[in-house]
Amino acid sequence: MAEAGSFADRVKQQADIVRVIGEYVRLKKSGQNFTGLCPFHGEKTPSFAVHPVKQIFHCFGCGKGGDVFSFVMEMEKCPFPDAVKVVAEKCGIPVPRPKERTPEERQENQQRAALIEIHREAQAFFVRQLESTAEGRAARAYLGDRGLNAESIAQFGIGYAPSGGDVLLRQLKPKYVEKLLVESGVISRDQSGARLFDRFRRRITFPIANESGKIVAFGCRALGDDLPKYLNSPETPIYSKSNVLYHMDRAKEPIRRQDFAILVEGYMDAIAVARAGIGNVVASCGTSLAEPQIKLLGRFTKRVIVNYDPDVAGQAATERSLTLLLEQDFEVRVLALPAIGDKKADPDLFIREKGAEAYIKLLKEAPPYVDYLIARARQMDLSTGEGKQRALNFLMPYVQRIPNRLLRSEWATRIAQQLRIDEPVLRAALNKSATERRGEVKVAPQLVGKPAKQIERRLIRMLAEAEGFRKELAQRLQHGRLYEGLETEKVFAALIVAGLSDEPIPTTEIGAQLEERERRLFFEILFEDAQEPTWEEAESCLDALRRRQIEQELAKVQKTIEANPSGAGLRELLERKQELMKRLTAAG
Ligand SMILES: [Zn+2]
Repeated sequence: MAEAGSFADRVKQQADIVRVIGEYVRLKKSGQNFTGLCPFHGEKTPSFAVHPVKQIFHCFGCGKGGDVFSFVMEMEKCPFPDAVKVVAEKCGIPVPRPKERTPEERQENQQRAALIEIHREAQAFFVRQLESTAEGRAARAYLGDRGLNAESIAQFGIGYAPSGGDVLLRQLKPKYVEKLLVESGVISRDQSGARLFDRFRRRITFPIANESGKIVAFGCRALGDDLPKYLNSPETPIYSKSNVLYHMDRAKEPIRRQDFAILVEGYMDAIAVARAGIGNVVASCGTSLAEPQIKLLGRFTKRVIVNYDPDVAGQAATERSLTLLLEQDFEVRVLALPAIGDKKADPDLFIREKGAEAYIKLLKEAPPYVDYLIARARQMDLSTGEGKQRALNFLMPYVQRIPNRLLRSEWATRIAQQLRIDEPVLRAALNKSATERRGEVKVAPQLVGKPAKQIERRLIRMLAEAEGFRKELAQRLQHGRLYEGLETEKVFAALIVAGLSDEPIPTTEIGAQLEERERRLFFEILFEDAQEPTWEEAESCLDALRRRQIEQELAKVQKTIEANPSGAGLRELLERKQELMKRLTAAG
C-alpha cells in the first residue's frame, strides 16, 4: 500500500493515528493503548483500540483493523488515494498535485477546474442577487412564505437568478471563452447559435454539490408561473444527474453515523427535512432514482426510508426505486405521508403544516416496504378473481426479492390474509418463482478461529517487537522450521521474512498480506497486555516448539511401524524411533 518513499508513506510517517481517529471516535488512554466505542459496529462498552506506537487500530468486537489509511477508507468509504489525501489534509501536509499523464488528461482537468470555478462564481452571483437587488427581495419574500429564514437561505446557499437574461453572462464573459460558458450549462446558446444568454432567469437557485462539496450544478424553481416550474443544469463534464444526490455532501456523515438515509424527491423536501434536524436526508432530484445514485448511497448505508411525493408520479417513482434498492440489497422502509386536508403532502408541506416532531414520529413508524406495497395492492379492485391476480402480480416481484426464506414465508401469509387469497395458491406461486430467482444470501464465513496457543502468541509478539533479539529468533524459527504445521503458520511465515531484515517490522503491511482470520489474530496479539519479552522466555518457547516437532515425528514413525510391522526398513524405523525418544528426553 504505502510504498517506501511515496507520498502515502510520508503521510503515514507524519500522521498520528490517535489524533486522526480521535476526530471520529472519543478515545481514552488505557494502559499503553487508547480505547473507545467502535464506529463500525454498535456497542455500549469499548472494544475498539488504537495502538499509538504501532500506529494501528483493532476492534475486538467486529474484527475491523488496520492502519490510519484503512480506518479512513472504511470511515469515509473512499478508495486508498482519497484516504491518503484526507489524512494529509487533517495533518496539514501539503498534497502534491497529481501528475497528468497525457495532454488530453491535462486539458480535461483544466476544463473541469474551470467549470467548477464558473459554478463558484455563478453561486456567488446568485447569492448576491438574492441579498441585494429589488428582484431578489421578491424572491426572499417567496422563500419567507415557504418558511425559509435568512439562516436557512445562507445554510443551503439559496440564491436568485434575475430576469434580465444576460446579467450573469456579462459578468462571466470577460473571463471565459464562450465554448466553456456554454459547456458549463449556466449559459445557453440560442437556436441560431449567434447569441448567448443566461440559462436561469427569474428563478430561485439551489446549488447542487458533488459528494466532496464542490458545486457542480444548479436546480432552479420558477418564481412566477414560468414553465417549466423546475429547471436544472444540463448534463456537463462535471455533472451527471444520475451520479449525484442532492445534500449528499452534508448528509454522508449523519448517514454513516445513524446507518440509514431518508430519500426524498426534491431539494425543497431535503431542505425541509434537514431543517427539522434530520441531517441524514438526500434527494434524488428527479422522479426516479438511478443505479449510480444507489451505489453512491450504498457506500454509506444499506438502510433507507423512501419518502417520495404521494401523487401518482411519486408512487410510481417509489416503486421503481424499490426495485433498484432491493436489487442492491438495501433494507427499505416507505413513508407515505397522510394528506393534509385535501392536499397530498410532500415532506416540505407536511413539516411546514404539522411540524418537525410529527414528521419524526411518522418516520420512526415507517413500515417495511412490503407493508406499503400491500396497502397499495389493497387499493386495487379485489372483488374479482382477475383483480386479485393483478394485485398478486403487482406484489410478487417484490416478495421474490426478500432474500430470507422465513421472512418471505411470513410475508406470503400476510399477503394471503390481507388480500383474501387462498394461501396454498399463493405459496405455490411463490415457490415457483423462488426456484427461478438467484441464490440465497451467503452466510459470512466464520472469521474467528481457534485461539492460538499461548506459546505461539508470545512468539508472535516477540517477533513483532523484541528489537533486541527478533532477528535471532526469526533465524532459529526458520532454521528449525519450527512453525510449520502450526495454526498460526502463515502469521509466522510473514513475520519471519520481515524479521530477518533490519528494517522495523511493517505491521500493517504484514496485516494486509494475511487472510482476514489471521490478520485479526495477529492484531489481537499485538494489543494484548503483555510483559516485556526476554531471550530466556524466547528460548523456552522455542524448546516447546522443538518438543512438539519431535513428538509429531515420533507419532508418524510409530504409525508407519504399526501399519506394516514386518515390512522392509523396520530396523531403520526403530532406530529413528530410539533417536527421537532420546532427543525428546534431552529436550526436557
Ligand atoms: Zn467493531
